[in-house]
Amino acid sequence: MSQRPNSPPKRVARRPIQELPDELISQIAAGEVVERPASVVRELLDNALDAGASHITLRLQAGGVRLISVEDNGCGIPRAELARALKRHATSKIASLSDLESVHTMGFRGEALAAIASVAEVSLLTRAAESEQPHGWLLDARSGELQASARAAGTTVQVRELFFATPARRKFLKSDATELAHCIEAVRRHALARPDVGFAVWHDGKLLAQWRAVDGAVLDALRQRLADVLGPDFVQQALALHWPLTYDASALAQTPASMRVWGFVGRPDAARARADWQFVYVNGRYVRDKVISHALRSAYADVLHGQRQPVYALFVALDPTQVDVNVHPTKIEVRFRDSRALHQAIGRATEAALALPRSSAADSTPTADDPVATASAAHWPASSQAALPFAARPAGGTWGHQVSDLAALWGRAEPHAQADAESPAAPSVAWAPAPTGQCQTATPAPWTSEDGPLGRALAQLHGVFILAENRQGLVLVDMHAAHERIVYERLKRQLAERAVTSQALLIPATFAASPLEVATAQSCAHSLATLGLEVLPFSPKTLAVRAVPSVLAASDPVELTRSVLAELARLPASQAIEQAQNELLARMACHGAVRANRRLSSDEMNALLRQMEATERSDQCNHGRPTWRQLDMKELNALFLRGR
Ligand code: ADP
Ligand code: MG
Repeated sequence: MSQRPNSPPKRVARRPIQELPDELISQIAAGEVVERPASVVRELLDNALDAGASHITLRLQAGGVRLISVEDNGCGIPRAELARALKRHATSKIASLSDLESVHTMGFRGEALAAIASVAEVSLLTRAAESEQPHGWLLDARSGELQASARAAGTTVQVRELFFATPARRKFLKSDATELAHCIEAVRRHALARPDVGFAVWHDGKLLAQWRAVDGAVLDALRQRLADVLGPDFVQQALALHWPLTYDASALAQTPASMRVWGFVGRPDAARARADWQFVYVNGRYVRDKVISHALRSAYADVLHGQRQPVYALFVALDPTQVDVNVHPTKIEVRFRDSRALHQAIGRATEAALALPRSSAADSTPTADDPVATASAAHWPASSQAALPFAARPAGGTWGHQVSDLAALWGRAEPHAQADAESPAAPSVAWAPAPTGQCQTATPAPWTSEDGPLGRALAQLHGVFILAENRQGLVLVDMHAAHERIVYERLKRQLAERAVTSQALLIPATFAASPLEVATAQSCAHSLATLGLEVLPFSPKTLAVRAVPSVLAASDPVELTRSVLAELARLPASQAIEQAQNELLARMACHGAVRANRRLSSDEMNALLRQMEATERSDQCNHGRPTWRQLDMKELNALFLRGR
């Protein structure tokens, strides 16, 4: 190809290099810091919190475009420093680089007020808490005029007519209603971070929200604030979590030497279509962070249905030297020294919270002397430690039912009965003593308090559901979905321990295989063996299955093998099974799970219920769908208009 000749350089009219005027510098900074009214709200709330306010009132007009006023009862600003507050790079929060590295305040760049004052009409009314004078001072940013004015200790910052001087930027604003929604979102984020501070929000003279200050244990206060701000539904379905898994509740809020994580994560059921209820805080600052959201996503991956978005409010506290908050003008992004450790802490704390089956969480009553339990009352899964693989299980204790061997129940007898000896014991659940002298011998026997939280099986419905009676009323179980999860979790555990027990088939199952299947069986022999499958070429076009995982002894060995081969063939050779391990096991579990229309005896049904109680994540099937529902007596009575 022939080279095109370069076109001659264009002549540009060059201007001399000049220093920009202060006002213009601030306006440029405002471009980064002040995008819309909500950005102003965020900066002013930061300042009020830094000033130690215990109550903050926000007043807005026309979505904040006409007026944003933030009133606090904090330390105020002494008259002598008042004019400086509006200067660029003027701050009371840091004085040196070492201060910057250990910053505890929300602000420190000293540019917010200057930037805001360059794109709006700003006034400051303030009275320093230590001031001798019986009044405060009102400063008009534009004119620089200062006058005495009545005020209790604290500060009111008023911001009027945002972008009045920059009509081009004003045009980017959305409707008042949209801007108002963004402002409210900004207050919510601050309010969740500080349950100890009261907030009131007014718009066009109407009170929109009022959240009283709550004190008390960290998780208690947070739960109350979450209920106030996001509604009682949020907390009802939320699970408390913390890292380290064992901790001293009283130390939660203190600045830690090592990392701490706490908060609430929503049950998979409560996930939403939008990611709008995901609140993450690092050292009290609302942030958006890829490491953290990835850790949460992964922790939910195994229990969430489709594209649903989990809900959570999560707090991370770590030594300020371990995090750089000065990487973004609005400080919404931060950088961690050790993001791997953080990822792991959040992932494991979240998994721990999600792992406990709801049945055991709901029925375990927290004891008064347990700091964890008292910190979060009924929502704290007191017995979670028992069900977690990485936490010490309490020795002894009241275990649930002795569960009979499931594989034996679902079809063929399994010779490797010891494979089940390592299955987790049911979480310890405190049960009231059984009422005596009430025992009937009819089938099915009536519910007694000795049955687990999911109660006693009554019947099977259309070959799909199990009906059970428990303390609260009626339990409906999707038997395939539930069993699938049980098998899946067992496979996962065995694989993690590199101990998938397999069972040789009496007669190898042979099948006509495609060239790809034969090739995959050969190239992935090691992966197959790790998964408990033994597949050998029988002839160039035939494969023979000689052993399957004991847990899946009841499944069709040919179907199972073909589906695993198909999955393995999709994977790049280098990834082997590590990457797709859970997908693989989920697929296998599906083959091993009891099929619809299989008649179950009442022993089998009860065994399934007991296994569900003892299995992590058993509230959702492998695809994130619920495995069981409770219809309590109140709901049932309401269905029949009883007691009206
Ligand atoms: P920064 O918060 O980064 O220091 P700002 O421009 O937001 O910068 O504020 C400048 C200074 O004004 C703060 O450092 C603080 O001393 C003072 N200030 C601002 N708002 C308040 C307030 N509500 N109460 C007390 N002091 C305030
Ligand atoms: Mg500030």
